[in-house]
Amino acid sequence: MSLTAVAGANLIASSLYDLGVRVIFGIVGIPVIEVADACIEKGIRFISFRNEQSASYAATAYGYLTGKPGVCLVVGGPGVLHAIAGIGNSTSNCFPLLLLGGSSESHQVYKGAFQELDQVSMLTPFTKFAGRPPSLSLLPSTIEKAYRLSYYGRPGATYVDLPADYIQGSVDRMETQPVYPASAAPKVMADASRVKKAAQLIRNAKLPLVIIGKGAAYGQAEGAIRELIDEKSIPFLPTPMGKGVVPDSSPLNFAAARSAILRTSDVILLLGGRLNWILHYGEPPKFRESVKIIQVDIASEEIGNNNSGNAEYGLVGDIELVVRQLSAELQDYKFSRVPKALMASREENFAASEKKANNAILPLTYQHCYRIIKDAIRATDTRAIFVSEGANAMDIARSAFDVEEPRQRLDAGTMATMGVGIGYAIAAAAACPDHLPVCIEGDSAFGFSAMELETATRSGLPMAIFVMNNNGVYHGVEPTAYSANSAKPLPSTALGFETRYDLIAEAVGGKGLIARTPEELKQAATTALTNGAVTVVNVIIDPGAKTKLEFGWLASTKKPASKL
Ligand code: ADP
Ligand code: MG
Repeated sequence: MSLTAVAGANLIASSLYDLGVRVIFGIVGIPVIEVADACIEKGIRFISFRNEQSASYAATAYGYLTGKPGVCLVVGGPGVLHAIAGIGNSTSNCFPLLLLGGSSESHQVYKGAFQELDQVSMLTPFTKFAGRPPSLSLLPSTIEKAYRLSYYGRPGATYVDLPADYIQGSVDRMETQPVYPASAAPKVMADASRVKKAAQLIRNAKLPLVIIGKGAAYGQAEGAIRELIDEKSIPFLPTPMGKGVVPDSSPLNFAAARSAILRTSDVILLLGGRLNWILHYGEPPKFRESVKIIQVDIASEEIGNNNSGNAEYGLVGDIELVVRQLSAELQDYKFSRVPKALMASREENFAASEKKANNAILPLTYQHCYRIIKDAIRATDTRAIFVSEGANAMDIARSAFDVEEPRQRLDAGTMATMGVGIGYAIAAAAACPDHLPVCIEGDSAFGFSAMELETATRSGLPMAIFVMNNNGVYHGVEPTAYSANSAKPLPSTALGFETRYDLIAEAVGGKGLIARTPEELKQAATTALTNGAVTVVNVIIDPGAKTKLEFGWLASTKKPASKL
């Protein structure tokens, strides 16, 4: 070995370190143990999970929260297959992710080597870049390229294959290219003439509306957006993860009159959100037939999707810069005529939800539980970062908890993925140590990744997890349905009766509590928010056995769009 020889594992670790990577999520095994250990030696935190699926989800959330790719390290074959979950999550949510996968020795391919899988071919169609360094000396430049491509332009997933013989081999450092600290992604402004036209549309609107998507949160555009909304007095609606870019407490927030304002507004400025199922494809009856949507997106391919009549108003560019361009064009403009009917609809809906929240009946309801948890958050001065998944548990939680800061709420996202929760909470705890992850989990959703509680306790990452336990997917069944004498088999949606999720936390070194009454929940919530531990509160709620399954949020309403 020459004086400047370096082992492959160390070369990988130093490339990542030089790029600025300080946290890696993953699971080791042959041949990546040396890589993880070299990273740890270099000063990179390696958070070691129990299933690659959760590790890959965590890395995507870390990418979203920090604006730089989350890195996930796994073994080849089954490890990469499990981590494909994260590739899908990254692509569908536009979160930056760099996946590093071990692979069999490069000279043993096609021989049925240990965990052999052609990962590069498999991932190529689903990533922005997937490659194996052509030689050991090209490892650093390949890692740098994959890292950069995942967050330049529209964020997404990239993959680098790490053959065992590269990891265990060595190379003269003089033969490798240096890696420099990753810079912020370059930003572009929109076509000035289109910005002028868009500003004119907003000026002439009877009811302009800003919709804030999670792209605006990811793009850290809160400064520019808050200024635009406050100065121009334009009403806004956040998407589920766009909450907090402008504080929920803003008087211009019309989330409580979402349907009414969507079907009334004639000009919509859409910032970092897609016209997919979450926004009803931008189509009637949820939107006006004649609505003009000014969509701002970093990806020109997105403009005109599902509402091609509006393609001509689209603005391609970085949200922060484009919003500043628009603000400059709207200098002397101020909107002042929110229709009275909308104000009234907001009041009415608010009063109706307050009534539900204050209704302290037994068994506990979602709404009342959330009121108790919300009060405990306030009373304990907790800086929460909310993580939420499950069907009803997540849906109802979305409006129950106010979000005042950007990137403070993570949920099942564009693919409505169950199982992201604990991985996301681990990422949030690692990315935002001054916040406490507060997880609102459906019992079914929690079950997907409950073993990651051990990851969280072992890694010293405290979090408060409320499992909303209704004994089922969507809802539970009557207790008698569990009886051995029951004539009918359990339905597919049923889960075990009052499963002790709290004891899972105790088993892995965390704290577990169970709550069936408002008083018990109040006490448990206060403990969970203040004890500095990984705490699971098993909240036994109404199984809702008589509830009919309804998917109103997926369907369009029959109500026609209002006239202005
Ligand atoms: P939501 O679920 O909140 O509606 P989506 O995930 O559907 O949000 O959309 C986010 C959009 O934001 C994507 O189309 C993505 O290309 C875009 N985006 C991400 N970062 C930026 C940025 N810095 N500037 C402009 N657009 C961005
Ligand atoms: Mg449930």
